[in-house]
Amino acid sequence: MLRCPHCGSTHTNKYGVNSESGTPRFRCIGCGKTFSSRTAQLLLNKRMKEQTSERKSKI
Ligand SMILES: [Zn+2]
Repeated sequence: MLRCPHCGSTHTNKYGVNSESGTPRFRCIGCGKTFSSRTAQLLLNKRMKEQTSERKSKI
């Protein structure tokens, strides 16, 4: 299950396909916003990188 990049909720439904890029779109039940799976993945990667750099700075 994808996590919403807006509010972090995992309550998301598939919401068709983006007509321009062809990527699947999802709609968050928590905040009602839509996002693409690509956006969610990019934000997830960014968040993981930030967490990693935070750990490094603490050591
Ligand atoms: Zn949301």
